[in-house]
Amino acid sequence: MKRANPSFPPLARCAPLAVTSSVFVTAMETAASAGTDSSAADSRLGFGKKEFGCRHYRRRCKIRAPCCNEIFSCRLCHNESDSVLHELCRQDVQRVICLVCDTEQPVAQVCSNCGVNMGEYFCDVCKFYDDDVDKGQFHCNDCGMCRVGGKENFYHCQKCGSCYSVVLRDKHRCVENSMRSHCPICYEYLFDSLKETRVLNCGHTIHRECFEEMLEHAQYSCPICSKSVCDMSKYWKKLDEEIAATIMPEDYRYKVWILCNDCNEASEVFFHIIGRKCSHCGSYNTRSTSPPAMPPQLNSS
Ligand SMILES: [Zn+2]
Ligand SMILES: [Zn+2]
Ligand SMILES: [Zn+2]
Ligand SMILES: [Zn+2]
Ligand SMILES: [Zn+2]
Ligand SMILES: [Zn+2]
Ligand SMILES: [Zn+2]
Ligand SMILES: [Zn+2]
Repeated sequence: MKRANPSFPPLARCAPLAVTSSVFVTAMETAASAGTDSSAADSRLGFGKKEFGCRHYRRRCKIRAPCCNEIFSCRLCHNESDSVLHELCRQDVQRVICLVCDTEQPVAQVCSNCGVNMGEYFCDVCKFYDDDVDKGQFHCNDCGMCRVGGKENFYHCQKCGSCYSVVLRDKHRCVENSMRSHCPICYEYLFDSLKETRVLNCGHTIHRECFEEMLEHAQYSCPICSKSVCDMSKYWKKLDEEIAATIMPEDYRYKVWILCNDCNEASEVFFHIIGRKCSHCGSYNTRSTSPPAMPPQLNSS
């Protein structure tokens, strides 16, 4: 069985663990070479860049968790810590500790004591710091949080309730709050997941890696609504050919009723071991069904 080759553009992720390798020159770095006066201050800002941080983020500060008053390298370090059983609300962080000079202070991009950028990328809303600007972080007001992948590559779909690739603009089926749900495979909440998410043909969403696992198991229908996950026309054509080449024995030449998972129409077709094709849309994504109730008799007088 040949595997279909769906290619869905990605949705925006929440700040990820992985670092992209693309070269990305920020406006700040370009500006740094402009004046000589500002270059001293700029080199101070850049001091220690990417030299500090945790396994999640390169950054030059730690945060004081507002919930337990403990100090952590980042929000994720807090959430993964064995000593805490709650999640840190990123917006609530109020104090940070500069890792260059060890000064605790209110949240800001530049350390009030030593003048370094505690994060090359800084979001005042999320209290988020990151020195790896290659990720293309941006804050989406509608999502209410920072995402990665480059602001220019994403737009916020109001109906689906999340940032989607611009490639998907007017090219996906909107499902109300599609992203404010759990992955149907691993049940992780998708909206602030750190993993990449894909949108299926039906508009339902799923982690990219969970989706790929599904395809590996030859599962081509949405776990939520059973519709085909992508354009299957090439695959259906192959099945047409296989069916044409495989004549069923006389005893099996009877008709069955099927319901199409793609167009929701019922049809009566010849049984075939390879597949049963919807007579309305041509999909093989069908299941057996009972014959429809008899249409009401016409009252002919
Ligand atoms: Zn961390
Ligand atoms: Zn400092
Ligand atoms: Zn933000
Ligand atoms: Zn958004
Ligand atoms: Zn949408
Ligand atoms: Zn998943
Ligand atoms: Zn679906
Ligand atoms: Zn159909």
